[in-house]
Amino acid sequence: MEYPLLGTEPLVVEFANTWYDDGAVDYLATPELVRGWFQAYGDLHTVDVDRVPARDATRVRELRDHIHRVLSAVADGEHPGPDAIAALNDCAALAYSSVQLSWPTGGQPAAATDSATSGTTRLLAALASEAIELAAGERRIGRCEGPGCRMLFVRMHGRRRFCHASCSQRGRQARYYRRTH
Ligand SMILES: [Zn+2]
Repeated sequence: MEYPLLGTEPLVVEFANTWYDDGAVDYLATPELVRGWFQAYGDLHTVDVDRVPARDATRVRELRDHIHRVLSAVADGEHPGPDAIAALNDCAALAYSSVQLSWPTGGQPAAATDSATSGTTRLLAALASEAIELAAGERRIGRCEGPGCRMLFVRMHGRRRFCHASCSQRGRQARYYRRTH
């Protein structure tokens, strides 16, 4: 499977872009695709990513839908609606960890960090947190103007209009075609 990974974008933007062309292709449609996508992202950036068990694929896809809605709303200057916002907040809230005191009778006191979350929950909480910070942050989110491409990207400079040089090239060709026909 060839995934639409740009390689230039933060994890959460690449994640949102798996809902490709507003759902014309869903690159996370099956548990195998979900696993393959995180693997492909990890390979591209040489980072270790948690394996997502098949039973968690639906949760991953649901959060992706909400993240896509929120980041698209930022890019398009619209409001994502309360459901997507609540879903991101609920998911990000699961990221919390706390320090816990253990002191067995006759033993020594010890502090341990107790993370309430593990595995997929931790991964989704991190993605939701990243989406929130991106949506509310200084960096602007753009949408590719390439023909047949609606990929989201972070605008590092005000002029960026395309997700990738290949889309810019196709955009030029389309303009040339319109001018000459
Ligand atoms: Zn594009």
